[in-house]
Amino acid sequence: MKEELLQVNNLKIYYPVSSKQIGKKEYVKAVDDVSFRVKRGEVFGIVGESGCGKSTLGRGICKLEEPDFGKVLLEGEDISKYNSRQMQPVRKKVQMIFQDPYASLNPRMSVYDIIAEPLIIHRLTRNQDELKERVYGLLKKVGLDEYHARRYPHEFSGGQRQRIGIARALAVEPRLIIADEPVSALDVSIQAQVLNLLNQLKKEFSLTYLFIAHDLSVVEHISDRVGVMYLGNFVEEGPKEMLYCNPLHPYTQALLSAVPVPDPLKKRERIILEGNIPSALNPPAGCKFHSRCPRCMEHCSSQVPKQYEVEPGHFVSCHLYEGNNKFIK
Ligand code: SF4
Repeated sequence: MKEELLQVNNLKIYYPVSSKQIGKKEYVKAVDDVSFRVKRGEVFGIVGESGCGKSTLGRGICKLEEPDFGKVLLEGEDISKYNSRQMQPVRKKVQMIFQDPYASLNPRMSVYDIIAEPLIIHRLTRNQDELKERVYGLLKKVGLDEYHARRYPHEFSGGQRQRIGIARALAVEPRLIIADEPVSALDVSIQAQVLNLLNQLKKEFSLTYLFIAHDLSVVEHISDRVGVMYLGNFVEEGPKEMLYCNPLHPYTQALLSAVPVPDPLKKRERIILEGNIPSALNPPAGCKFHSRCPRCMEHCSSQVPKQYEVEPGHFVSCHLYEGNNKFIK
């Protein structure tokens, strides 16, 4: 049994919004009571439409957003209440790769300085020669050359910039990398290269990834387990093979029906969801998905579904699985 690296328990991240009605406080519930665990060496994919709270969840775990409730345990250490000084040693263990390689690199810094910065902040090298050796070594690991170190971010393509971001994240030898839509700003051919690089680095450095994306094919390619998010909650979670071969939740079924299959003989019936994702400020009562669900039943609009384990390790929150399955939560 692999050891748990990350445990997220009942995490809530709410944003207050000003209301015209005096005295009434309103909140956008971006992350609303989310719990999951990630084992060391595992890739846990989080998938869902834009606005479902997946990026906020990633940022909450590494404390770029302050959680309002719940716990984040990294290697058993509860970091959820840590202040910025207490977080400094933790930042060495958790690094983030951002969606937009154009915006996440400082345009005034050379690639050498970008990669050297975390090594200097965390005092990971003894002298300039060692620093240079580490920076050049990291560039090589991500498929760039030593001469690239003298250049600036604007001189690189999108894929190369994401490689620089990966080298910067790897510099401090983290245990966990939170990759927030790391390939969605890249061309499809470049996406595959960056995903293969992430896979290769994971094996080489025994990394654990929390991989956040809206593209189900991308998540399938890299993940061991997947959680499907809708309006701030996980609606389904399970090993990749189970979730992609036997999707249980009507939302997962609809998302997967839109993914093209390479074999023309294996046509999937497309499930079209009505309407847009409702506002997290005023989510629907009962099952939050009921306003769009093609299999909605009478009590779905009033009762919040519980979570059921339908196959070992495969969980779903939906009233369709009541009764004949193992009740979990
Ligand atoms: Fe659809 Fe009801 Fe299941 Fe929600 S609980 S996904 S509305 S069937």
